[in-house]
Amino acid sequence: MQEEEPILISALAQYGYCTRRCGLMHVEQLYEENPYTLMGARGHTQVDVEDVVSVRGARIERALPLWSDRLGLVGRADVVEFWPDGTIYPVEYKHGPRRHNLFDALQVCAQGMCLEEMFGCSVEKGAIYHISSRRRREVLFTEELRTKVLEAIADIRDMIREGRVPPPVNDKRCPNCSLHDICMPEVLATGRFAWHAKALYRLEEMEEEEDES
Ligand code: SF4
Repeated sequence: MQEEEPILISALAQYGYCTRRCGLMHVEQLYEENPYTLMGARGHTQVDVEDVVSVRGARIERALPLWSDRLGLVGRADVVEFWPDGTIYPVEYKHGPRRHNLFDALQVCAQGMCLEEMFGCSVEKGAIYHISSRRRREVLFTEELRTKVLEAIADIRDMIREGRVPPPVNDKRCPNCSLHDICMPEVLATGRFAWHAKALYRLEEMEEEEDES
């Protein structure tokens, strides 16, 4: 059996934001910048270069490569703190003010799960550092969150294997999404275009079934 390509850890954040966004980026390989993504990239410049420093007794590694053979993940952590008592603490940098959302939590939890495999230890929590407000939001890697990470990985893998891109959500997430113009959520989700879109998805499914038979 052909070995599957590892999934980027950042795909989990895309998936948590909108499954269609994840599909457009990781199945269709489409990407567009908008002011939000550009500001996010700018904010990341301070942690994009591999570096090791010491702060208050902790070894701080920036842009640390991460992987997990068990989960089939690869990526990079913005910051990982290694404390003298053995605590390992990943920190993901995000543009924007401090706010709770699942998609950032999925990403930093997946980083923690990779670190557990890489260093053979338990990683119980990490944080999101919000660049605009310069505040951290701590994320506990609960069993519930870990299960959500595993479910997201399984669904992303299925999407890639099947070439499946989910339908648009067409809600308040869309105006800020850099893929809005490619995705066309209003056109595909409303009125008679919704019927055409559903018919198109059905047609694609039928073609796939024919190919498999
Ligand atoms: S525009 Fe909306 S539906 Fe389309 S990818 Fe972005 S968030 Fe998802």
